[in-house]
Amino acid sequence: MSLTVVGSIAFDSVKTPFGERERMLGGSAVHFSLAASFFTDVRIVGPVGDDFGQPEFSLLEGRGVETADIVQVEGGETFFWRGSYGFDLNTATTEETALNVFGDFDPELSPDSAAASTLFLANIQPEVQRRVRAQCRDAGLAALDSMNLWIESARDELVGAIGEVDCVLVNDAEVRQLSGEPNLARAARAVIDMGPRTVVTKLGEYGAALFTQDGFFAVPGFPLEDVRDPTGAGDSFAGGFLGYLDGVGGTPDEADLRLAMGYGTVLASFNVEKFGCERVSELERDEVEARLAELRNMTGL
Ligand code: AMP
Repeated sequence: MSLTVVGSIAFDSVKTPFGERERMLGGSAVHFSLAASFFTDVRIVGPVGDDFGQPEFSLLEGRGVETADIVQVEGGETFFWRGSYGFDLNTATTEETALNVFGDFDPELSPDSAAASTLFLANIQPEVQRRVRAQCRDAGLAALDSMNLWIESARDELVGAIGEVDCVLVNDAEVRQLSGEPNLARAARAVIDMGPRTVVTKLGEYGAALFTQDGFFAVPGFPLEDVRDPTGAGDSFAGGFLGYLDGVGGTPDEADLRLAMGYGTVLASFNVEKFGCERVSELERDEVEARLAELRNMTGL
């Protein structure tokens, strides 16, 4: 079993009401990889510049993430994102985005990355997602994330990409925008009609909801009293969710999907306890299992 993720590898500068950090390791593919690494072998694919050094490689490799497919562009600079959060931590304000080497990114997967059993196309241009999907045909489980920028500027390509994956993981606002449906259940149904078997809508601190052709399941967010930085929560959720499913293998049944929702919730909750990757990079598997047990206990009706 192995999982390939393609997406941004970044330096993030983040300010929240509880502190700030300059140029810490971030990016969708990084948050995703660290979360998924608890369950399966993860290969991360993305570009970085000369400013990406041994400390960053070591952080990923320290969690067992395979970094051989990170492309270091000579003379280039790594993608940079600056964002802030106010009192309501559910909404990020983007203050600066410098695509740098990420702007010309056209990934060519190595044979090992292309042979993955699970593929996650993090939030990148839909046409790039489609090109990667075409190189990774054997993945039994392929999923994608997207954002309002692509729904507005590349809708047709995005609908094409959605038609080629098994699972879509997006925020509730994005699923509404994508479908043009204000009602979440109808909106998710409309996205399933585009092709995927499963749609997961991420609801920020309120949790996540899973829609399948004839099923529905929801989990609350884990009720934390200390949240420092929500950056990467959605990607950590996706990492826990897909990492767990890749570890199980085969076509997931309803019970697998429900447990995957639990692991996604748990990984997202650890991610937000500290800034950037600080918490997940020091996390232990037994902490993951203990929190999953708490979540199961909390939600047993
Ligand atoms: P999340 O909080 O899970 O939605 O993802 C946050 C991560 O997305 C940050 O670490 C950023 O580096 C990354 N990010 C921000 N804007 C973009 C973008 N336009 N494309 C790709 N990644 C981005």
